[in-house]
Amino acid sequence: MDRNKTEGIVIRQVDFSETSRVVTFFTRDYGRISVLAKGARRLKSAFEAAIDLLTRCQIVFLHKSTSSLDILTEAKLVNRFRAESHQVNAYYAGLYVAELLQSLSEEFDPYPRWYDAAVVTLSRLQSDADFRQAVIRFELVTLAELGLLPEFEQCQCGRPVEENSERWSLWIQQGVLLCSQCRHHEASARPLTGEVLSTLRRLSHSDMADETIPPIPDIQLRIIRPLLTALISNIIDRRPKMLAYLKF
Ligand SMILES: [Zn+2]
Repeated sequence: MDRNKTEGIVIRQVDFSETSRVVTFFTRDYGRISVLAKGARRLKSAFEAAIDLLTRCQIVFLHKSTSSLDILTEAKLVNRFRAESHQVNAYYAGLYVAELLQSLSEEFDPYPRWYDAAVVTLSRLQSDADFRQAVIRFELVTLAELGLLPEFEQCQCGRPVEENSERWSLWIQQGVLLCSQCRHHEASARPLTGEVLSTLRRLSHSDMADETIPPIPDIQLRIIRPLLTALISNIIDRRPKMLAYLKF
């Protein structure tokens, strides 16, 4: 049995018995893990109040070589996710981050940069930052880390994007950009402008921690929001549940 130490965010909890709980963490060093937290449902448990949803903790767990559940032995609170009561969107956006981490990660498949982006996003959601932009930046990092971010620089035929009146579109099922000449082969592609592509390029190349990114204009948000929803729904084969609660 290996004893592993790492940092993680609680993304799901399920009651296991009268006293115990199975907790799923997205961890920095091991990716997604599910561990049995014995006694976690007791009022005075060994984990104190460390394991609430979206809480970031330092944990120690025992990895079983057999098929039985790994065991959580320590959980120390690093910080708790607290969206103010007026920030109901920020709270749901935090749950959406957890849903993306849960649906798109694999057990024991670490993505440290994706983890760091989640930490930055959860912290940004608790500040006065615009939750819509925080969510879009996290979605773009998620796609980039998984190797599923569409090319925003050129059409699949090689034609580069220029900021002119050319009509571009994104072929959702294939995640590729099409110029006006290639588009007629694929009627279902979604239209977008050179300005929107330039925003998507800037956001996907920016450092996640960079606070100086200008706000996305509303006119572009109205194009980018449904586009990312369609891209992510196509990857996970359903519309993410939490999007129904978010008022963009
Ligand atoms: Zn083309």
